[in-house]
Amino acid sequence: MGVDTDDVAVIGGSVSGLAAADSLNDLSGIGEVRVFERQEYDNKRVDCGEAINDSTLVPLEKTAANGFLNNVRGFQLRVYSGMNRSATETPLGTSNLRCEAGYICDRDVVERRWAESLSDDGVLFETGRSVSHSEYRDICDEYDYVVDATGQPSLTHKVHDRVPEYTGDMVALNATVEGDFSDYVEYPRIYFEGYVGYSWSFPKSRNRANVGIGWAGDERPDDYMRAFEAAAERNGFPVPDRADVNIYTIPRGPSLDPKKTHHPESNVFLVGDAAGIANRYQGEGICQGIRSSYLLADLIAAGKETEYSTHCTTA
Ligand SMILES: Cc1cc2nc3c(=O)[nH]c(=O)nc-3n(C[C@H](O)[C@H](O)[C@H](O)COP(=O)(O)OP(=O)(O)OC[C@H]3O[C@@H](n4cnc5c(N)ncnc54)[C@H](O)[C@@H]3O)c2cc1C
Repeated sequence: MGVDTDDVAVIGGSVSGLAAADSLNDLSGIGEVRVFERQEYDNKRVDCGEAINDSTLVPLEKTAANGFLNNVRGFQLRVYSGMNRSATETPLGTSNLRCEAGYICDRDVVERRWAESLSDDGVLFETGRSVSHSEYRDICDEYDYVVDATGQPSLTHKVHDRVPEYTGDMVALNATVEGDFSDYVEYPRIYFEGYVGYSWSFPKSRNRANVGIGWAGDERPDDYMRAFEAAAERNGFPVPDRADVNIYTIPRGPSLDPKKTHHPESNVFLVGDAAGIANRYQGEGICQGIRSSYLLADLIAAGKETEYSTHCTTA
């Protein structure tokens, strides 16, 4: 390890971890930057709606080869009184939210291309294996800064047996489907339908979309798959094959006391979902995660990293 430089370990190489590696690698005074990611980028599974609301945060050219597929004008929120209705029923209300730099992506491609570009810039990657609890402790001993970008609940909380510090949860199902989305390819749809949560259909092109549904309230369906299929039928998007559906349980954000995002004894900083900052109803977890990493790098550059936890709720 460098004598005059600080070395950084980033655990978790999804959007927040890549943003941390990118911004810290650019700082003078930083030596080695090493990312530990349990999956392989060539075959990475992402459980996400794949909407990047502010694509300017990702330092890649916005091309299909880099995973940026549909440059949307915004998102249409469609509000219904409930779920007992047909696909042709008019919503109670609709609003179109403009989103200048928004894209629906192949997120696995975005992450792979971002990792490749960082590797070209000298960032080191160890992929295809989970960091174990004992390795986590070794990493904390070895590195000057440790960025925990392992999502919710974080590896830090697992190691310290403090997972219950995250509050609430949200169950979400999603899948990529084929169909005709030409009516709303420019304005992907989010459906509010009377339960605490929402459903969505985000076209990647005129004939391919990421569709999903999530519940954040205490009332949950008995059969999640059947509920997803029913949402597809009443909202007029293709019913996904069960084999293609991802199901994910995530704590409902903001879900962690900001004071718990910095562990000074080992200089561990939590970013992105690990920091519990993503607000599920806003649907901008990717951008919030990236911003938290850029914020951390700015504070480290200014020698003010101990202030991170007081800032990170506003990332
Ligand atoms: C169904 C669903 C739909 C969503 N849709 C959207 C959307 O359209 N737009 C949006 O902005 N947000 C969306 N979100 C939220 C968004 O996915 C998250 O906020 C975002 O992924 C957070 O990124 P992150 O890098 O902080 O964490 P994560 O994406 O959770 O990444 C954590 C990374 O850490 C790795 N990892 C975990 N443990 C270890 C370990 N022990 N060792 C090594 N690596 C490890 C994982 O493999 C993973 O790559 C959605 C979420 C869900 C569940």
